[in-house]
Amino acid sequence: MRFFDPHIHVTSRTTDDLENMAAAGVRAVIEPAFWVGQPRTTLGAFTDYFSSLIGWERFRASQFGISHYCAIGLNSKEANNEGLAREVLEIVPRFALKEGVVAIGEIGFDEITAAEEFAYTEQVQFARQNDMVVMVHSPHRDKKRGIVRSLEIARDLGFPMEKLVIDHNNEETVEDTLEFGAWAAFTIYPHTKMGSERMCEIVKKYGPERLIVDSSADWGVSDPLSVPKTAKLMLERGLSPEAVELTTWQNALDAYAQSGQIDVEALLQKPPIDQTQLYADNSVLRGQAPRVEAVPN
Ligand SMILES: [Zn+2]
Repeated sequence: MRFFDPHIHVTSRTTDDLENMAAAGVRAVIEPAFWVGQPRTTLGAFTDYFSSLIGWERFRASQFGISHYCAIGLNSKEANNEGLAREVLEIVPRFALKEGVVAIGEIGFDEITAAEEFAYTEQVQFARQNDMVVMVHSPHRDKKRGIVRSLEIARDLGFPMEKLVIDHNNEETVEDTLEFGAWAAFTIYPHTKMGSERMCEIVKKYGPERLIVDSSADWGVSDPLSVPKTAKLMLERGLSPEAVELTTWQNALDAYAQSGQIDVEALLQKPPIDQTQLYADNSVLRGQAPRVEAVPN
């Protein structure tokens, strides 16, 4: 099977992870811009981070046969550093319209503050004006209130719900997200929060339409193989192959291909790996022998 993990912070993962993901069938990923675990103190830190998502990380994933797309945005946590946040909001447009950027994200609420609301509103407006998809992060605490607020703000701004992906849903929020007409994504964590078993129950209860499974794997305890593992469990729990395909491949593709940045036809073929390639004179090889796969005729 082939999988699309539409939310993973691969910059924090190793080449072993990329190899294991490719071997498990992960064909494409989306890496949304987010918080790096400690607050950034300068605008330059954001500039370099955004350029790495568009440049080096896209190249690095390609070296293991994975198509890499990204989302650009100011995350909710750092929206609370209001001075720096305003500077970041000014540079978001410079990166958001580049090749391989499929959405504005991940943006939304963390502590549900006025500063977060300001940054979210500004970025949803930018996305609407530029006909972009938005990937919404939802808070760990007070999740339902955060999600409903994100949905209401987007609706009140006239943002098209079919371009809104609400992430980190759970049993308490899935109905709100679906009722508003947005896509409902679920992050599958290895030990807590949403697990694969719970995901199976949600797909059984609501059906696979507009539901999306992702890993959100990052620098914390998380699993870059969450999507293939959940797919396997869904099949074992009696869900149809069609439901698994929709929730672990097609729905994410349909949502984010609206950006016009995904060559859907090309994605159906696994790209041959060529590790002799360089990005800005740098390779992933560290002096080791490159892997080169034959180009299919
Ligand atoms: Zn994330």
